[in-house]
Amino acid sequence: MTPITELIHHPYQAPDGFAAPQIGIHKASTVIFPNVAAMRQRDWKHKTGYTYGLHGTPTSFVLEERIAALEGGKQCVLVPSGLAAIICTDLALLAAGDELLLPHNVYGARLGFTQEELQRFGIVTKFYDAMDAGDLAAKLSPQTKLVWLEAPGSVTMEFPDLPALVRLCREKGVLTALDNTWGAGLAFCAFDLDGQGLGVDISIQALTKYPSGGGDVLMGSIVTRDEALHQTIKLSHMRLGYGVAANDCELVLRSLPSIDIRYKAADQSARQLAAWLATRPEVEAVLHPAMQGAPGHANWQNLCQKQPLAGMKYAPNAMNSVVIGQAHTGLSAGLFSIVLLEKYSQPQVDAFVDAMKLFKIGYSWGGHLSLAVPYDISSMRDPNISHWPYRGGLVRFSIGFESAEDLQADMEQALGKALR
Ligand SMILES: *Cc1c(COP(=O)(O)O)cnc(C)c1O
Repeated sequence: MTPITELIHHPYQAPDGFAAPQIGIHKASTVIFPNVAAMRQRDWKHKTGYTYGLHGTPTSFVLEERIAALEGGKQCVLVPSGLAAIICTDLALLAAGDELLLPHNVYGARLGFTQEELQRFGIVTKFYDAMDAGDLAAKLSPQTKLVWLEAPGSVTMEFPDLPALVRLCREKGVLTALDNTWGAGLAFCAFDLDGQGLGVDISIQALTKYPSGGGDVLMGSIVTRDEALHQTIKLSHMRLGYGVAANDCELVLRSLPSIDIRYKAADQSARQLAAWLATRPEVEAVLHPAMQGAPGHANWQNLCQKQPLAGMKYAPNAMNSVVIGQAHTGLSAGLFSIVLLEKYSQPQVDAFVDAMKLFKIGYSWGGHLSLAVPYDISSMRDPNISHWPYRGGLVRFSIGFESAEDLQADMEQALGKALR
């Protein structure tokens, strides 16, 4: 069975005589024990029993199992946001004196924690060039405890050579954690990057994005394949007091069976719009990993078009793909950025975003509504690792489920109005 079918047919224990398609929503802080001996015996860490709402409910356990299965992992911990998944992983694994390595184009909202809290706790953060395995090799030191990876980079969309980066860390015995929000467990398997079982140690996701898909839930997941590593993270998670609400789990469980078709629909429209934008005279560059010439395009091809997903016997480019023209091609999400020509001022770039009517202005992505945000790249990068060849303004798009024709017309009228 393919993972997406397994996801839909994932087993759960329905109450006797009531086998509805959706699982029950169990809400609890208190869980009542039949007697003191039972209370003393219960073990929440191995999911053999329930002790307290914070440690999990039948609802959260099922969501954890489904996210782990979707990613090709074995265990999962749920946290209240994608950012919390990153922070919880850091706190579980790092100690004073350790070094943390982050890609130069890392998800920006995690930097505050790194530069304030982690620094205060005596943990040193260094940045490596995600597009240069040699740079990572040079920066791995005996103090390096954890290397974060992201594919593609947030906002700027460069796609790294993930297998090469992970291999380097493996050789040095350094733990790897991937922010897999973009791939969502669909575009590639984080735990099998080369078809031979080379994988990251930890894969986190902002379930806020595609798994929720509604723009109305905040949640994160931390997936592993190693029981001891999972227990380390799980214990930190418990001590930190991170819990997720049953109603939020319900929303993600409701959306999850359609994640594959939603992802593909957004991908298909995004590629159509990216290809059209590449023909526009106002646009200097389209940053979309599936586009010829985009930074790291060959790495995207190797990972998302050629490698089979874990446990799949068929060729991924026949099944886990969108069809563009006549060709099946791997997956690439509904997210991309453009850089406008340098001659357009920031107020003009902003006016372009303001002039779009269907594209709403707002953070996050992966929902039904198309979104656009202008970003100031100069404030987002490690100044020592830049190779940013553009000087014009950048706009990032998240493509939703409106018709691609309507979205194109909206972009076209806004370009005409704001960038004359
Ligand atoms: C959105 C996002 C996060 C954080 O998710 P939240 O639920 O908003 O905290 C982390 N990483 C990436 C790549 C994201 O896009």
